[in-house]
Formats: sequence, structure tokens, C-alpha cells
Amino acid sequence: MTDDAAEPPDGSDPPDGVQDLEYDNEPFTYDGGRVDPGESANIRYGISETYLGDPVRIPVTIVNGPYPGPTVFLSAAAHGDELNGIEVVREVAHDWDHTDLHGTLVCLPVLNVPGFLAQERYLPIYDRDLNRSFPGREGSTSARRMAHRIFRNFVAPCDLGIDFHTSTRGRTNMLHVRANVNNFTVNRLARAFSSNVVIGGEGPSGTLRREATDAGVPTITVEMGEAHRFQRRLIDRALTGVASVLAEFGCHPDSSVHWPGWRTVIDADDEKTWLRADAGGIVDMKRGRGALVEEGEVICTITNPFKEEDEVVTVEAPFTGLIVGVLENPVVYPGNPLCHLVGLSADTRIALEREQTTERSRSEL
Ligand SMILES: [Zn+2]
Repeated sequence: MTDDAAEPPDGSDPPDGVQDLEYDNEPFTYDGGRVDPGESANIRYGISETYLGDPVRIPVTIVNGPYPGPTVFLSAAAHGDELNGIEVVREVAHDWDHTDLHGTLVCLPVLNVPGFLAQERYLPIYDRDLNRSFPGREGSTSARRMAHRIFRNFVAPCDLGIDFHTSTRGRTNMLHVRANVNNFTVNRLARAFSSNVVIGGEGPSGTLRREATDAGVPTITVEMGEAHRFQRRLIDRALTGVASVLAEFGCHPDSSVHWPGWRTVIDADDEKTWLRADAGGIVDMKRGRGALVEEGEVICTITNPFKEEDEVVTVEAPFTGLIVGVLENPVVYPGNPLCHLVGLSADTRIALEREQTTERSRSEL
């Protein structure tokens, strides 16, 4: 675990061979069109066809700024019922002033259109996971063909990317970044997004962030809140993160990078666990998303329909940590996840306690 609890990062030098790139003022081109510097375009781009032979088209907004700079993609709803990121991407694309933009924004608010229409996580046919199908392949399954059209046209040409998700239906996540922090630029991107919590790891193969990063487009995932909702506070925090990333990478050179006040970076070896139910029943969750819990503290109880006291199962925190993800739908089978707990160092804990003394403010994370 690395902590930036006490003070902002010092902007350490990149390793040899990694430098800020020089950019030219170039058109953004995709299969079928181009968007010149100083112009923007709203596109409905065909990635598949329905049973009726109609096109399945994803909405894409390209904003090519008047000044040279990196090309950044912002994507959401690779899982069709994860809505918070849709509003983040739409507000960046359509509500922000881009007259001073250095570089290009490729805004992809709804990647999984069939899932979005059905309000389901997966592509409805055969329950394929679009976010395990990247970078996709021509001549392969329907999911991989869709992924290929998206990836080749709107991901591969970019320099950086941010893919927005929420927790799976029935649970909620604290806003946090998932990123391969061993990659210099991914780490820089993850920190620039200015979330309090960054969880390291390269991600499963087939995910957009893993495959884009492997293809030379450093990409992070942002997890925020729950499915089927727009959660305004989380959306606003994510917009702050996007603005901070654009400042860090020179897209808005006059803006400054946001410092979240405290930050903890959880590596693969650090303490983190999904606590799972050992009994079926009805869950009384005592602590919420973003809560700091002490080792041995009761996080929830599981009871049967009769609330029989000798049948109550008490779930305690195995170590002191932060609740990053938690059950919302209060029913479980044995083995179902209850909460995602990550360990905190003493320094981070002090910074967190100093900044946020009430459970209420933490539940807004
Ligand atoms: Zn997701």
C-alpha cells in the first residue's frame, strides 16, 4: 500500500524513455469520417445489426479542439445498466466549453447499446459480457465484432482513456479508480483523476482498460455508485476527476490538477477482501459505502424470517479498513458478497479521520 496522506505527490520524473509527447493539430479519423481541429461531431456509429436487419448504432461525440494535444476517450455503459458514467460523459461532451481544448475528446456514453435498451448488464443474447470481449475480432462472435468496431475506430487512435462503471446491480461502490499502477502513464492518469482510493491490478483480459492499455492506450476504470441510477454527488466528483486529468495531460493547460485531500493506493498484496455471507437470510447492514470500520467491529447481521436470536449471524471486520463496496439489496444466499473491505495504513486513516469526521460525509464518497 502506498499512501499520499500527508501531502500532494511531488510530480516525480518519468522513467527513462517516457516523456510527454509532442502533438500535431490533426483531424480525428475513423472508418467513414473525419473531424477536423476546431470542429465537433455527433455520430451514430453502426457496430452490429438487429434481428430485423436494422443497424445497432452507438452514440459518439468527437470534440477536436482548436489546439494540439492528446486524444482522450471517455466511455460508459459497457455494462448496459451502469448509468452514472453516461451522464459524466454527456456533460463533458455537451455542457463543457471546449473553445480552449488542446487535443481531442472521444466521448462514448453508451457502449453496450443492446444491454442499455434492455437495462441489463450483459449483451442480452447469450448473456455475453462486452467488457470481456475487447479488443474484439472481425469474423468472431457478435460481441467480439461489436467490440472490434468500437476498439479499432474509437479506442486505438487515442492516447489515454477512462472507462466508467458502477457496482453490479444490488450493490454500491464508493467512487474509486482501478488501474495498473505499475504502468507509468496509467499510474499518472489514476492519480490525476483524484479519487481517494486507487485499487491496483491490470484487470481481467478482455476488459476495455486492460486491452486498451496493452495496445498502448493507457486506460483506467472508474467505479462509482450503483446500477440503474444517476447519483448526482458521484457524477460531480467524477467530473472533477475528468477536469483534473485534462489539466494533468495538458488538454486544459491553464487548469490545475485536483488533490483529493488523502489517497490510498491498494496493491495486489495489500489487505482487501470481499466478505461473503456464511448463511442465507436477510441482512441488516450497519455501515455504509465509504465507512471506516475497526477490526472486530460488527458490519452486519444476517437473520431468518423469525429474527430468532440464536440463529443470528454476526459479521465482523477481519481488519481495520474502508468499505469500498457494499450490498444494497438486503438478501443473501450463503456465498453472496456482503462488502468489499480494503485495509488502510495508519497515516491514511489519520488523514481520513481529520478530513471526514462523520459517517454522513463518507457516505457521499
Ligand atoms: Zn461494469
